[in-house]
Amino acid sequence: MLLKKTLNDPQTRFYISKCKYCGRVFIKFENKTGYCREACRTWAVREQKARYQQKRRKLINDGELISNENNKLGTTYLSNHRHDDFKREYLSIHKEAKRIGVIL
Ligand SMILES: [Zn+2]
Repeated sequence: MLLKKTLNDPQTRFYISKCKYCGRVFIKFENKTGYCREACRTWAVREQKARYQQKRRKLINDGELISNENNKLGTTYLSNHRHDDFKREYLSIHKEAKRIGVIL
């Protein structure tokens, strides 16, 4: 049987806590609860994700973090014309593929 947690039950444990998002005081029945309601939890997670992405994009723009999401067609250093020598062509393609991280 599922026991419903109520304040009237003397065996129910509860804690008085402050919401991590809005700072409101609320009653919680589980120790791990950090937010007063589901909306506060959702907004808090949304803000954490936004902060993470801002930090990540700043690192990518500063060149400290390498990401392939900004690589578009035409961003390689390969020339428009192929080498006549097959071996040189193969080596330049291999070098470029290594540089952009397609092969190791
Ligand atoms: Zn709250």
